[in-house]
Parts: sequence; C-alpha cells; structure tokens
Amino acid sequence: MAEADIALIGLAVMGQNLILNMNDHGFVVCAFNRTVSKVDDFLANEAKGTKVIGAHSLEEMVSKLKKPRRIILLVKAGSAVDDFINKLVPLLETGDIIIDGGNSEYRDTTRRCKELLQKGLLFVGSGVSGGEEGARYGPSLMPGGSKEAWPHIKTIFQSIAAKVGSGEPCCDWVGEEGAGHFVKMVHNGIEYGDMQLICEAYHLMKDVVGMDHDEMSQVFEEWNNTELDSFLIEITANILKFKDKDGKYLLPKIRDSAGQKGTGKWTAISALEYGVPVTLIGEAVFARCLSSLKDERVQASKLLNGPKLTQFSGNKKAFLEDIRKALYASKIISYAQGFMLLRQAAKEFGWTLNYGGIALMWRGGCIIRSVFLGKIKDAFDRNPELQNLLLDDFFKTAVEKCQDSWRHVISTGVQHGIPMPCFTTALSFYDGYRHEVLPANLIQAQRDYFGAHTYELLSKPGVFIHTNWTGHG
Ligand code: NAP
Repeated sequence: MAEADIALIGLAVMGQNLILNMNDHGFVVCAFNRTVSKVDDFLANEAKGTKVIGAHSLEEMVSKLKKPRRIILLVKAGSAVDDFINKLVPLLETGDIIIDGGNSEYRDTTRRCKELLQKGLLFVGSGVSGGEEGARYGPSLMPGGSKEAWPHIKTIFQSIAAKVGSGEPCCDWVGEEGAGHFVKMVHNGIEYGDMQLICEAYHLMKDVVGMDHDEMSQVFEEWNNTELDSFLIEITANILKFKDKDGKYLLPKIRDSAGQKGTGKWTAISALEYGVPVTLIGEAVFARCLSSLKDERVQASKLLNGPKLTQFSGNKKAFLEDIRKALYASKIISYAQGFMLLRQAAKEFGWTLNYGGIALMWRGGCIIRSVFLGKIKDAFDRNPELQNLLLDDFFKTAVEKCQDSWRHVISTGVQHGIPMPCFTTALSFYDGYRHEVLPANLIQAQRDYFGAHTYELLSKPGVFIHTNWTGHG
C-alpha cells in the first residue's frame, strides 16, 4: 500500500538522522539501504516507536510510496549515486523525483539532472549541511535542479530545515542543475576560510601576546557577543578551555596537521577555472596543505630562522580588539569573494541564483552559521543586483572601521614572523579591488615584449597593438 510520503536510501549517520527528523515533523518515511540488514536494525533500534517503515528491496520501497514518488539518496558521493539511480529508473514513472543529499560534485548533479529529465524524471541535488546534529534537528538545505520538483518537496524540506529569526527556514530553492551542490561547495570553502581565520587569531594571541588557554577562551567567548557571533567562534571558546583527563589542556596535544576531504579544494579549483579571485579560500586550503607537511616543518624549524621573538609590549586589550577587527574585516572579504564566485558560476551556467536566499540558508543549521549572514541577506534584500558585498554601505563602512586595526595586526604579525595567509590575502584583495590602477600595465608590456601578445591603450579601448620593444627587426 502506498503509505510513505518519501523514501530515504542510505542508513549511515546522515540518513538515519534525516529520517528521524522527517518523522518528527509528521512525515512517513520508508527506509532502505544497500546492506539490507541495516534496515531491520534501524527499525528495531533508532527508529523504534516511530512511524518509519522499511523496505527490503527497491521494488518494495517504490511500491510503498505516494505519487509523485520522492526518494532521497544519502549515500557515499560518486558511483554509489549513479548505481542507485540506474536501479531506480526502471521502477519509476514520469514526474517522480530523485533527490541526492550527499556531497556530490556539482557537475555530476548537472549531468544527472539532464539525463533524468530525458527519461521524464525530476532530479534534485541538495546540499545538506550541519553534520549529524544538523541532519537530526535542523540542517541547512540547499536544493537545486529540476525546479518542477520544488513544489512537491518544499513542505518537507522547509519543515525539517533549521529555523532562524521568526521561524524562517534555512532552506529555499537555489537554482538550476547543479546549483544546489555548487552553493554547498562554496559553503564548505567558506568554512575552510572561517576556520583558518580563527586559527590565525589564535596563533597571534598565543605567540605574539603570550596568552594562556583560559584567557584565549574568554576572549573568544566575548567575541561571540559581537559581530563575530557564530558557531565556529563558540566552539573555539569551548575547545580552548577543554581539559584532558590528566587535567591538562587537550588542544596543545593535538598534532598540528589539518585534514581535508576536498570540498575546499573544489572551491579553489572552481575559482581558478572561472577566473574569480577567491584568494582567501585558496590560502585556507594551502594552509592545511602546509600544516600537513609536519615532518618537513620539524626539520625546517631547526634550520630556518625568523625574527627574534620579543615580549609583547603593546596594550594587550587594544591589540586583542585589533585582532577581532582584523578577523571581522577578513571574514567580510572571504564572503564577498564567495559570492563573487557564485555570481560568476551563475553567468557561466545560465543559472538564476537567489543570493539573499543563499545567505539565509547559511544563517542557521550549518557550520558557518552566524549572525553576520543576516547582514548579507539584508544587503541583497536592499539590492538584489549588488555587484559586490564590499560595495554595500553596511559592509563598506564595516571594513573602513576595521582597516587601521587590520593593517596594524598584519604588520605586527609579520614583524613577529607569524604566518597569516588569510589575514594578509584578504587585505591584499581589498587593496587590489579598491585600486583604480594596478601594475598590470607592466605585465601587458612584458607579455607583448617577449610574446607579441599585444596590449590595449587606456586612450583607445578595444584596440590591440604590438610594439617592437627592442627596436630590432
Ligand atoms: P557515508 O559513509 O558517506 O556513506 C555510507 C552510505 O553509503 C551507506 O548507506 C552505504 O551503504 C552507502 N554506500 C557506500 N558505498 C556504496 C555503494 N558503492 N553502493 C551503494 N551504497 C553505497 O555516509 P554519511 O556520512 O551518512 O554521508 C552520506 C552522504 O552525506 C555523503 O555523500 C556525505 O558526503 C554527505 N554528508 C555527510 C555529512 C556528515 O557530517 N557525515 C555532512 C553533510 C553531507 P552500506 O551500509 O551498504 O555500506
């Protein structure tokens, strides 16, 4: 009997939690998994006492679904998604909907969308953020793909998503084809940037100011009551003061070699591919790469000298406020760059993206959730055609108010030999973006000199000429 509102395939941590979340909101979910024994395990344990039903084959699962059928895949990204799609297609009817909630690459989503449309099926690639906790109690959801599917899934998606403000769901329709997964990818890239910026602030507090863990934790706690109010700042305060079983702080015992799963790298690759200067996310990815060269760094630390470290002699309270402002200004740059990438992708692929809606989707439920994203939503509400966040009055003023502190922190950090790849690239971007004239005229001359690549005169736009720079021949 067709009794289930939706089916979910993939009973690992994300899938199980999303099912329980949908159940809490009154939807009947049919659970399925490649290893079928996990269905019964789930029904007998985590889903015991709920309205969740199970299926032991895809045929059985499909037969239990109301029409149009809605099926969410939460399986390992890659071939597992294609395998399930291929098995589902013969069992489905025109207008049925397959949703991929895994971390798929956006180009795969675009391909699947097109292939399934030819077969009369609707495909949605949805970013799901917030980890296990988010999936269980309210994730940020970023669906994109075949828009005809949206009216059929909107109620379920917006019910289970995180809510902010007066109950606004952190989920809206993102755009065509792979737009949902592209936005999720940029979200993850921004997450890399936010984390690295916090690490640079921590490094300065620890090695320039010489603060202890409780003191640093206290500062991050205070920052969480300012413009920086966010999940990542909050957990950083908790991590800093966390003590191991032996009563000592846990953080300094952790190997300083950062892992990564690839979505930050994908964002940086897209930035290079589409020619958008998303420098901060790029630097954040490279900072993780550098950190992972631990053995090499141990050796180099014995051989390569930096400046002689002197005791911090400035005004500690004032310098901490400078660091906070440097972090805030750099964060504004990172989000401005992220939205530049989204804008360019929309142009490349002919997508219509709802930028304010994207900010709202990230406002709650996900790792980069913050009060700050509300300000970005406001900026796009004021001007949906906003070319760059930095040109919005609120952000323009915010950066201007921070810039003296930002420059002071960077110069102090450089004097002390502290690596600050994201603080510095953010400032360089800001200085580059606000310069009417950059030294790229010299690059054009050099290119023309050695390769006859031609150049354009300011006085004659659109006309490309070559000069014989050596006077020979
Ligand atoms: P996962 O470890 O990525 O995947 C496990 C699930 O995929 C299991 O149901 C497994 O079935 C199935 N699977 C693996 N290989 C398969 C194959 N070749 N064919 C068919 N099924 C296959 O699970 P997860 O951590 O819950 O994540 C699910 C998706 O959400 C992933 O795309 C992940 O990147 C994304 N995601 C995860 C998080 C997170 O915090 N974990 C957050 C956001 C998004 P068996 O039980 O039969 O092995």
